[in-house]
Amino acid sequence: MTPCDFSQLDRAGLNLQAVFNLDSLPPGIRSQLQQYMEDGAKFRQLILIGNAGAQLWPAVKAAGIASPDPIDDFSVRTVTDWFNTCFGTRHRKLIYPGNTPVGLQALGRLAGWHHASPFKVGINQDWGTWFAYRVVLLADTLLPLAPPGHAPSPCDNCSDRPCIAACPAQAMTSDEFDLNRCIDYRRRPGSRCAATCVARLACPVGSAHRYPSEQIAHGYSNSLRMIEHYRNMSATSKMK
Ligand code: SF4
Ligand code: SF4
Repeated sequence: MTPCDFSQLDRAGLNLQAVFNLDSLPPGIRSQLQQYMEDGAKFRQLILIGNAGAQLWPAVKAAGIASPDPIDDFSVRTVTDWFNTCFGTRHRKLIYPGNTPVGLQALGRLAGWHHASPFKVGINQDWGTWFAYRVVLLADTLLPLAPPGHAPSPCDNCSDRPCIAACPAQAMTSDEFDLNRCIDYRRRPGSRCAATCVARLACPVGSAHRYPSEQIAHGYSNSLRMIEHYRNMSATSKMK
């Protein structure tokens, strides 16, 4: 590897990377990062790292990480190793995963990765919906910048819209995605969406890059657990 390229990340399945200068980010994103921007002498760039396609899950499995969120843990570990190899002790700050409310989809739009699909998962022409944001770093780096993304949304030319008909909850029959319908259906006994999104599987764009079934089940089972967790917390607080 030549210093500071992304090949180490590519090999680990973290194969989407985009770099932005902090001072050229839109005001909305800058304000989310304000607490760190004041430390501007240390941080010059924001590095956005994602995965696309089926490559990441086998790498996560091979790492044998026994934790509730092995994808996050693997991603952070891999990116930290990469940064240390390339940049040694240069300043960096992990923003995501974490508690900083940074707009991942807004960053994805800037990178040209993200368009909204009818079921609100991001989509692009190359990978369909089979990509995700994994790590955001602020860093004292001078990496080459991401070219602005202008590719159109594949949904613009999708006249049949099979995702809409496939949704068993009919959550996309009006102009707005009906999240409550989706969640209510997912929570039902025998739901077809307990561990997947049928609409997402029905989209033909990028289907060759679909995640392995085990990864799909892992992600959607986790999200359903989170939904149940917050529902239970909310019910408990109402009883107090
Ligand atoms: S099926 Fe068509 S409308 Fe639905 S997400 Fe895929 S490209 Fe977009
Ligand atoms: S998870 Fe199921 S109910 Fe929700 S949008 Fe996807 S297909 Fe529809």
